[in-house]
Amino acid sequence: MDGLLIGPATRRQALFASVCALAILLTLALAAPRARDALPGIAPFMPMCALTVFTTSSIAAFLLGARFAATRVAMLAALGGAYAFTAITVALQLLMFPGVFARTGLLGALPHSAAWMWVFWHAGFPALVIVAELVRKRLPAPPFARERLDARGWLLIAAPAAVAALLGVLVTHVDLASPFNDVGSAAPASAIVNNLAGLAICALNLVAIAIVLLKGRLRLVLDLWIVVALLASLVDAALNTLSIERFTVGWYVARVFSMFAPGVLVCVLVWEVTALYRQLAEEHATLIRASARDALTRVYNRSYFDEQFRQAFERAARSGQPLSLVMLDVDHFKHYNDAFGHLHGDACLGAVAGALAGTLANTRREPGGFVARYGGEEFALVLPDTGADEAAALAERARAAVEQLGIPSPAAGGLVTLSAGCATRDAIVASSPNALIEAADAALYAAKHAGRNRVSHAGASIA
Ligand code: GH3
Ligand code: MG
Ligand code: MG
Repeated sequence: MDGLLIGPATRRQALFASVCALAILLTLALAAPRARDALPGIAPFMPMCALTVFTTSSIAAFLLGARFAATRVAMLAALGGAYAFTAITVALQLLMFPGVFARTGLLGALPHSAAWMWVFWHAGFPALVIVAELVRKRLPAPPFARERLDARGWLLIAAPAAVAALLGVLVTHVDLASPFNDVGSAAPASAIVNNLAGLAICALNLVAIAIVLLKGRLRLVLDLWIVVALLASLVDAALNTLSIERFTVGWYVARVFSMFAPGVLVCVLVWEVTALYRQLAEEHATLIRASARDALTRVYNRSYFDEQFRQAFERAARSGQPLSLVMLDVDHFKHYNDAFGHLHGDACLGAVAGALAGTLANTRREPGGFVARYGGEEFALVLPDTGADEAAALAERARAAVEQLGIPSPAAGGLVTLSAGCATRDAIVASSPNALIEAADAALYAAKHAGRNRVSHAGASIA
């Protein structure tokens, strides 16, 4: 669970992130020469993108905050701060943008307020990723006290959000000059040179990418996707630098990439959580299967027997189908232990259980039958839809299979053997599960008294 996002990246993840990075760079290469080509104006496109960036950045900030709360990895909180900053700056930019909600923008926007919020949004994200890399702690066990870490961590999220809000106040109270030179008619090359704000943002993104690569070396899942997010942010800034006019190829593609930067992290987080749930479900199923098995003999254990036998009995009572139970007990096993020691005794029990399971698997066509270790050197065969004759025949095959293992024993016959007692629930007379067990037990002890290494069955039907 702690490995989510900050777990080591697999080859597949690295490959997928590389493909995304290449696609981003390819799009830049294709869009850059046409960046200033005009396209039909779609007025709602900008507010729609801004709203998407706001929503996904808020979700990313929330999810990273939640991951921080679970792991105490300060870098996650700092990245949460980067996305919180993005969410607030983009929201303020949208509110202040002339012509979206009001002709001159809301919140008392001045002529260049929205442009400055755009600059803060695009410069703030890479700058705060750099901060996140500076507070990078390799993994949990933080060196300082948990409470102090908590406070510092939450500050890493809250402070950028507060700074974003303060910047909003600044741009609506101080009449700043436009952050962009008027390069509307200039050639692309001079447009770039003149657009210092855009160039500075591109440089900041490049520095952030370099720092993530140097500090993280793309070892963690997070490293991979933060680089992809920064690349998207770089392409966004680069295309905006090439063309600040609205409704151009560069402007549209830049808007799309502005959504990509927070979106990619949200997708990765959701993907990882989904994968984690699948893994948990599989592990849970494995655990349930393992908990039904006897650790020594690998056949089903007593608690599985108790539950399943009761259910099989109830099914048989409802359907009127026969249900047979065979109780089996290794003969003179105490002597075996005394002669060879308990470790050999354990191995012998494993071999006996294997022979019983093999007999059941080889002879039965009906589903639902199973072998369980009832306790000590006693086993049980539960045989739904099985009449008395068939159960006795199967018990005889199981007895023979154990004898044929040829395990030497100090007992009279010279080989490890077992005795079996069968009982079958009569189709007409109702009885309890315990009554069937007692009947099979009684048959087993009859087999013991009759000389062992044999099968006996409860003569009368069980009531
Ligand atoms: P009988 O033919 O009447 O069943 O004689 P027995 O010696 O098999 O019966 P008894 O009940 O006297 O002894 C059972 C022995 O099984 C004693 C116990 O130490 C041994 N046993 C029970 N569980 C285990 C186990 O998990 N491992 C080993 N090695 N021995 C076990
Ligand atoms: Mg016994
Ligand atoms: Mg015994």
